[in-house]
Amino acid sequence: VDVIESRQPAQGASKVSYAWINARDKHPVRYHELNRRSQDMWRRFEDDLQTDIGLVWGGEMRWAATETGALEFRSRVAELQEWGYSIREISPEEAAEIEPGISFGNPTSVSYTDSDGHVDPERVVDGCLSSVRQTGGLVHTNESVTSFIKSRDSISHVVTTKDTYECDSVVIAAGTETPKIAEMLGSKFQNIHSQGATVITDILPVPLFNSIAAMHSPRDLDGVLINSRQLTDGRVMIHGGTHAHSIADESIEDAEMLIQETAKYLPSTR
Ligand SMILES: Cc1cc2nc3c(=O)[nH]c(=O)nc-3n(C[C@H](O)[C@H](O)[C@H](O)COP(=O)(O)OP(=O)(O)OC[C@H]3O[C@@H](n4cnc5c(N)ncnc54)[C@H](O)[C@@H]3O)c2cc1C
Repeated sequence: VDVIESRQPAQGASKVSYAWINARDKHPVRYHELNRRSQDMWRRFEDDLQTDIGLVWGGEMRWAATETGALEFRSRVAELQEWGYSIREISPEEAAEIEPGISFGNPTSVSYTDSDGHVDPERVVDGCLSSVRQTGGLVHTNESVTSFIKSRDSISHVVTTKDTYECDSVVIAAGTETPKIAEMLGSKFQNIHSQGATVITDILPVPLFNSIAAMHSPRDLDGVLINSRQLTDGRVMIHGGTHAHSIADESIEDAEMLIQETAKYLPSTR
């Protein structure tokens, strides 16, 4: 396998990905099952790559803050249980026992999903590219795919800004640029846009959580919705969004606001 990368690896979506390994928010049931099967594959994938990809397991916790939110919340938990997902509603007391460092406020319902985890995408990309090189493949950087040459029904060559390469088959893994490249082959894909901003902090010298891998703040509140996880080197990744509009303008003010919002739920980040 040869890889063609227009810039440097892991600088696109993978750099800012929250990389939560889950099937909790996946609909419909078939897509949920696909995600569940892929959750199961991560350990094997890490073994295959023979490198540390920053996998963290421990589950996910979130809660509702309103009575209406709790109704919706419980119905989703029941649906996921019907689908066989390892999720359960726990009492606020049990939640506080599992995660004494989280400020839950007055939760109306709390869920705990023990099968979830997260990963470090930059390490995953590094591991994959090492594997490509070890098996004799080449990684071309600062080189863009510009077109393909077809021979009958298959693609025979990849044309780039620097060269033309013969190939047996092509995998498009171009993140948000995938529709553009697929269009070169006459296929139509559409990106779906969602709002959000990602902050990666310096190393936090204390564990963010007692045992869980990821925390999501209540979705039934207005304002900023916070997702938090801690990478294995101690850095904390905060992903924030709102129901209504983007907060992602790369400003220091937005980043600081996300950190302040996070501290409401996780005082150890202050
Ligand atoms: C904010 C955010 C949060 C996310 N959270 C999660 C999550 O919690 N769980 C989850 O499973 N997924 C999550 N995702 C999705 C996941 O991160 C992405 O699906 C994944 O990182 C995509 O990897 P990729 O290699 O396809 O794309 P990218 O990492 O974007 O890499 C694509 C590469 O293609 C290169 N490229 C583009 N055009 C060309 C060209 N013409 N020629 C050569 N190279 C080209 C780019 O330079 C880039 O390096 C999230 C994504 C984002 C942005």
